[in-house]
Amino acid sequence: MKELLDKIISDGTVLEEDILKVDSFLTHQIDPELMSLIGKNFADKYRDKKITKIVTIESSGIAPAVFIGLELGVPVIFARKQKSLTMNKELLTASVHSFTKKVTSEISISTKFLTSQDHVLVVDDFLANGQAALGLIELCHQAGATVEAINIVIEKSFQNGRSLLEDKGYKVDSLARIKSLKNNEVHFIE
Ligand code: 5GP
Repeated sequence: MKELLDKIISDGTVLEEDILKVDSFLTHQIDPELMSLIGKNFADKYRDKKITKIVTIESSGIAPAVFIGLELGVPVIFARKQKSLTMNKELLTASVHSFTKKVTSEISISTKFLTSQDHVLVVDDFLANGQAALGLIELCHQAGATVEAINIVIEKSFQNGRSLLEDKGYKVDSLARIKSLKNNEVHFIE
């Protein structure tokens, strides 16, 4: 998506050759016009599928997810990151190791929001090693819901998230695919 690639080049900052900082439009301050375009772009690919829910993880997945949900006219659920929820029978839970924070947290969604009737788009801001997406997929499986695709705003293709998800049979759609962040420069896969 050209508008996104332009924004990454103009406003993104490379940290440590494998982290891209995009806090001026996606992960802290949010650019609603860009999010709206992102929502339309993803939604256009899935209008003919019977998507019933968008599932994401707090906090940076929420903005793109809401705009996709708005376009498709379906609810958006975000998994919460909390510490000790394993004993609660009302929750679907999974463990996710955070690539940026280097901690493992328990994520959860209330059982009342996701059922075996649901057809889900899983959404996140970044794809690195695929752990957040796998955690969200696990929550969907616990509910018996069907995961139709994984929608990622920015994929770092030099990490193994896409191959991990594709090897498990999931469709991965990304709007920006980064092949390298070497020398503090962003290089996209054309
Ligand atoms: P994964 O679970 O695929 O290893 O990493 C994806 C998660 O880590 C995303 O939810 C995102 O919050 C965070 N993340 C991974 N790489 C980056 C990055 O380069 N920049 C930012 N801002 N977040 C990232």
